[in-house]
Amino acid sequence: MTEHVPPVTQASPGADSRRPSGPADDADVIVVGAGPAGSTTAFYLAQAGLDVLMLEKSAFPREKVCGDGLTPRGVRALVAMGISVSEQDGWVRNKGLRVIGAGKRLELPWPELSSYPGYGLVRPRTDLDQMLARRAQQAGARLLEGVTVTGPVLDERTGRITGVAAKEADGEHTYRARVIVAADGNSSRLSVAMGLRKRDDRPLGVAVRTYYTSPRHDDDYLESWLDLWDGDRLLPGYGWIFGMGDGTSNVGLGLLNTSAAFGHTDYHALLRKWLAGMPGEWGFTEENRTQPIRGAALPMGFNRTPHYYRGLLLAGDAGGMVNPFNGEGIAYAMESGEILARTIAQALARARRSETERVLAGYPQALREAYGGYYSVGRVFVKAIGRPELMRFATKHAMSRPALMRFALKLLANLTDPGGDATDRLVNGLSKLAPNPK
Ligand SMILES: Cc1cc2nc3c(=O)[nH]c(=O)nc-3n(C[C@H](O)[C@H](O)[C@H](O)COP(=O)(O)OP(=O)(O)OC[C@H]3O[C@@H](n4cnc5c(N)ncnc54)[C@H](O)[C@@H]3O)c2cc1C
Repeated sequence: MTEHVPPVTQASPGADSRRPSGPADDADVIVVGAGPAGSTTAFYLAQAGLDVLMLEKSAFPREKVCGDGLTPRGVRALVAMGISVSEQDGWVRNKGLRVIGAGKRLELPWPELSSYPGYGLVRPRTDLDQMLARRAQQAGARLLEGVTVTGPVLDERTGRITGVAAKEADGEHTYRARVIVAADGNSSRLSVAMGLRKRDDRPLGVAVRTYYTSPRHDDDYLESWLDLWDGDRLLPGYGWIFGMGDGTSNVGLGLLNTSAAFGHTDYHALLRKWLAGMPGEWGFTEENRTQPIRGAALPMGFNRTPHYYRGLLLAGDAGGMVNPFNGEGIAYAMESGEILARTIAQALARARRSETERVLAGYPQALREAYGGYYSVGRVFVKAIGRPELMRFATKHAMSRPALMRFALKLLANLTDPGGDATDRLVNGLSKLAPNPK
């Protein structure tokens, strides 16, 4: 598979003509976007003693379209940043995943592992993202809210990114740093301006969600429904019901681009149709809906590469890091942010420019080592379930075999120990054996 190496782009008109307005505009590293990827990157960079400037277009607290669910992988990433995840601090814990499909219902507890806690969490993104941004600030990162990055500032001779142009309430500004991080989410305007587009050969999902007041708000399992039908075709994706613990449930569904229905589906109508089949007492009706139905794309399995290009490094959704098996993106945004921060800290500690460059250029390889094989297996999986007959066979077959479903949970949620038991070794072995293309 060929790596997409984009052409060098020009600096935005006028962007390079402005000098930084003061010393506060300079930093070692600029992080564009203060979602989970950006805030985690900034946190670990600041902890390493670097001067970090985060630029965020919105102001916290702000909404982010999401299912608000965290698997134990996400919990581990929060704990690593010293965030208290106790129930007294407003977190809703879950014990596992309840899967409903092919006329059956299975409760699968999260696996008992040494690498991950045995519980997941639910928290609205309005809270979660603000908490992560504040944590980065506590570690020493500077955050400017209400700053929309409009494009890169390029060194005209080398084509390397040396800063960003931004629009804010008082006009346009330019910010410069030695290294720039694109953590600006799925659309990643900054990556696109550098010529880095989404890859057509990598999976993409689309998901919609809303909230309903419901007696199911205090469910202690995340619930996932495999039966999403388009006429007589079983669609590759799932619906979810996550109790928020505040009187409401986050309800949504996501589909993969490997099905023929992708791009021709009315997601709002599909959601309503799916919910119409639910028991009335759950309350998933128009009168109980507390938010608009909103949707967004899920960029999966490294669907934007290269992750390092001419001074720009990509983290989280900007680099297409959502898990193709289950649509989980928060944990991968945070983990890639940590990997990236450690790479940058080492790079900027090198004396010579060429050495710094060599370390930064190692970031894509570090990501491939972390997820490459697993995402390759995920790409095969999403292709397979894009065929309705296979999806139907797999659902029917697996749902009547709880042991197989426990294995599937480990595979789909990427939850294993390095040595681990036989199922861990099988999942890890698959990822290791899978091709790991750029
Ligand atoms: C419907 C839906 C449900 C989902 N459910 C789950 C779930 O339950 N669990 C899970 O783990 N994942 C879920 N995901 C995926 C998850 O939301 C993402 O993977 C995650 O938010 C990625 O984090 P990020 O920091 O990379 O990007 P984002 O969270 O998108 O953060 C990007 C940040 O950059 C800022 N920004 C963007 N452009 C600019 C700019 N030009 N200048 C300055 N700032 C900018 C944005 O305002 C934002 O704050 C879901 C996604 C969708 C669409």
